[in-house]
Amino acid sequence: MIVRQILLSTRLGKLVNNCLNYVQFKLYPPTCVLCNTSGHSDLDICPACVDSLARINSPCPSCGMPLEASEHSHCGSCLQLPPPFQSTHSPFYYEPPLVKLVTDFKFNNQLKMARVFAGLLRKTLADRDKPDCIIPVPLHRRRLQERGYNQSLEIARLLGKTLGIPVDYRLCQRTRHTPPQTGLDAKQRRRNMKNAFGLTAKCHYRHVAILDDVITTGNTVSELAGLLRKNGVEKVEVWSVARAVPD
Ligand SMILES: [Zn+2]
Ligand SMILES: [Zn+2]
Repeated sequence: MIVRQILLSTRLGKLVNNCLNYVQFKLYPPTCVLCNTSGHSDLDICPACVDSLARINSPCPSCGMPLEASEHSHCGSCLQLPPPFQSTHSPFYYEPPLVKLVTDFKFNNQLKMARVFAGLLRKTLADRDKPDCIIPVPLHRRRLQERGYNQSLEIARLLGKTLGIPVDYRLCQRTRHTPPQTGLDAKQRRRNMKNAFGLTAKCHYRHVAILDDVITTGNTVSELAGLLRKNGVEKVEVWSVARAVPD
């Protein structure tokens, strides 16, 4: 543990640590990340624990929010102002125990969670039109250096490999270092993300899936989807493991 902490204090150390994590999850048999039982195909989470995760049963096909009893095809806000993406696939509520798994993944170097999240998404993404590529939400260079990896890219790589969809992590970049959205009100969050992304090359895709680990307000994926739509992409889907739903 101490060795890991020392390793994590340098950039090279982070790289070594990521390699160790990689070797670790390649060598050891899958173990459920929630209850520690072993041997569950390659999912790292057992069927009972998957069943214990809170699933969004009737989501709005556009934004992924649970539909109210009075809402039928789409939620009221999507009918009023359709988002720049056509569909959202985000199967779970962002609540415990997923919150702990996502926090471990993002802030405690638990890279093995990428395999858990890619596995959970893969199981629920069957029978869809394949997008031309998966675009993981980019991190700003500074945050990438702090963390050592982009959690959305790690999920996208594994998911792209199993679904046979290329991953493009170079086309979009974060042009502004934005403060974390936590603690900001709705208006501030929208302003915080305004023009946060740019393209590094001409976009030739017609259909893409943006991948984020968790959708909180939707401002990040909306901003990125809007940029892609302005640059000729006709269909944008949003994929994430979980989405936050306000009470
Ligand atoms: Zn389990
Ligand atoms: Zn909606």
